[in-house]
Amino acid sequence: MDVSLLLDGLNDEQRNAVAAPPSSMLVLAGAGSGKTRVLVHRLAWLMQVEQCSPYSLLAVTFTNKAAAEMRGRVDKLLNGRQQGMWIGTFHGIAHRLLRAHHLDAGLPAEFQIIDSDDQLRLLKRLIKAMNLDEKQWPAKQAMWYIGGKKDEGLRPEHLQAYDPIERNWIKIYQAYQESCDRAGLVDFGELLLRSHELWLHKPHILAHYQDRFSNILVDEFQDTNNIQYAWLRMLTGDRGNLMIVGDDDQSIYGWRGAQVANIQRFLTDFDGAKTIKLEQNYRSSSNILNAANALIVNNSERMGKELWTEDNEGDPISLYASFNEVDEARFVVGRIKEWQDQGGSLSDCAILYRSNAQSRVVEDALLQEQLAYRIYGGHRFFDRLEIKDAMAYMRLKNNRDDDAAFERIVNKPTRGIGDRALSLLRDASREQGSTLWQAATYLLDNNLIAGRAASSIRKFVELITALDNDVAELALHEQIDHVVLYSGLKSMYQLEKGEKAQSRIENLEELVSAARGFKIPDDSEEMTELSAFLAFAVLESAEGQADEFDDAVQLMTLHSAKGLEFPVVFMIGVEEGMFPSQQSTEESGRMEEERRLCYVGITRAMKKLYISYAESRRLYGKEMNHRPSRFIREIPEKYIEEIRLKTQIRQPTQFGRFSAGSEKMSFESTGYQLGQRVLHAKFGEGIVMNYEGSGPQCRIQIEFDQLGSKWLVVSYARLQAL
Ligand code: ATP
Ligand code: MG
Repeated sequence: MDVSLLLDGLNDEQRNAVAAPPSSMLVLAGAGSGKTRVLVHRLAWLMQVEQCSPYSLLAVTFTNKAAAEMRGRVDKLLNGRQQGMWIGTFHGIAHRLLRAHHLDAGLPAEFQIIDSDDQLRLLKRLIKAMNLDEKQWPAKQAMWYIGGKKDEGLRPEHLQAYDPIERNWIKIYQAYQESCDRAGLVDFGELLLRSHELWLHKPHILAHYQDRFSNILVDEFQDTNNIQYAWLRMLTGDRGNLMIVGDDDQSIYGWRGAQVANIQRFLTDFDGAKTIKLEQNYRSSSNILNAANALIVNNSERMGKELWTEDNEGDPISLYASFNEVDEARFVVGRIKEWQDQGGSLSDCAILYRSNAQSRVVEDALLQEQLAYRIYGGHRFFDRLEIKDAMAYMRLKNNRDDDAAFERIVNKPTRGIGDRALSLLRDASREQGSTLWQAATYLLDNNLIAGRAASSIRKFVELITALDNDVAELALHEQIDHVVLYSGLKSMYQLEKGEKAQSRIENLEELVSAARGFKIPDDSEEMTELSAFLAFAVLESAEGQADEFDDAVQLMTLHSAKGLEFPVVFMIGVEEGMFPSQQSTEESGRMEEERRLCYVGITRAMKKLYISYAESRRLYGKEMNHRPSRFIREIPEKYIEEIRLKTQIRQPTQFGRFSAGSEKMSFESTGYQLGQRVLHAKFGEGIVMNYEGSGPQCRIQIEFDQLGSKWLVVSYARLQAL
């Protein structure tokens, strides 16, 4: 292979980074400057020029989507010669390590990863069992406390407190840890901490991996937390090379313990590491880039970087003031259809929002127009109630000690195991330090439980045992099909009736097809198909579902959009109280992080950026009136074009710049009014809903009685007022 190919399409600074002799290195640069590209080329360079074996290279990224993309890009450069290279997320790689060394890590072979939902249930139960008041000791706070301590590498036994409140949190942490250990459950933070401890306590295992990975490359380094840094530091050892790329302006996980200061720490710990800055942006047109630059200067805590582009101005950023969230969704979908009509593909378009709950209205609008879409994160398939129920049966089949699964389904469908029977089980498990399953069999075997409680618990134990035996010889999807049916889950939902129940049944059927289509990932050969599938459901699917190859609009939170790029981006709900979020306006320090998140959002766009806000919004069942976000005001007007499509005559806003003023006059001079009925020669009768632009270019949206809504240029439409 011609090595120069690896340097083609790179600028001088990028080349310096890619072709540097093996060493530790920091690439610090703004969005879209080619950091990820450099990292990918560097992997190829190390193999081609430095003769590194793919087995000696480890690349860590932040999301599964980013990891998949990186794998694809490396594959393109190396034509499959990268086989054996480890590319993954911190969690994915830690999981892989723990699987390979589960005995040394003190875990059962079938250990199961749990998500925050399972974590909360477990904590709730433990807090109750400790006779603590749930209001004073909310499970959620316990989860944050425990996560924070794990992030600092601290176990309950490392913690001491004189403060009685803190002492209680430690006790809860202790109980949680014991319960997880007994049941073979591992939360996300535990994956990292435990693999770190594995190395700490088993130096020969650490030595093996230190020898193996001569070069470790980390993308999005600004979002690493303490334990991730410690993990990297340890693995690199004294001889390895650590290359980190990142952007302090895109640090958006401070709330989860990420430390931008890790960049400084790296420079101290890796004395002599070279720093390379990239300043040219290749992603966005200059309007978009300048807007992002102007926004981020409002932050005071910055390391300071320049970013410029050779790209032309491009379109201005379109700003849309919507009447409410439905209007906003309709606007977005309308633009996507226009893009499609012009020959663009759906997957070029991304809709980004601050919180997952915002997706529902947009989904409705997309469904109405029959546009395919894919959601990353949020209400994912594997998060659904019925799917979690079915998976809990599979988990218990796989590992009887999985307390989280046991709790979930012991009385689902109801089998007469009431609170009394359950508390007997919990008490026994607490007294004996056993899992719930062990407690159940112990109580039954020793006749320590009688009557209805005994018979219903016995039924459950027998059911699980029978299910396990029945499916022993079946393929994975047949196993799930069998379990869904014979557990009684399916008939439970059948009895529920209604649309919701119907969709739950469909989802259960979908789960069977998902299992049928499931392929064990390359890095999991040693796992059973079921174990791999269970891990996949928590870990891999944490970001997406649906077929990667479908042409579909992409929906995701701003957080999960990090590192990605799209020709057309919609940022919706850019309102005070939404984005920046209410919380961040109340807590100091959080505002700058929100602004960085906005910077991340803007810089995802290559060609066209739409920003929208709603004057009134219904969310979480409440009606809210928000002002446009301060972030909009921080973007200089010259980069913005305001789009007016109002279903109502606008009230003067609190936000002078966007008042309707002259545009409204000019619209009215067309002779039409909002809400007016009109007749179109071809499309029939309809109502004027919206307008945009002015003069001969003025376009109006008409909701036709027969055909639904259409945008027409007034001067061509030849409408007849009715
Ligand atoms: P982010 O901070 O958002 O993660 P990044 O710095 O990782 O961005 P990349 O995703 O690597 O940036 O690159 C942004 C875009 O610019 C990509 O489409 C990439 O292919 C392109 N690009 C990078 N460097 C060059 C170059 N030298 N010439 C042409 N295109 C480039
Ligand atoms: Mg990147």
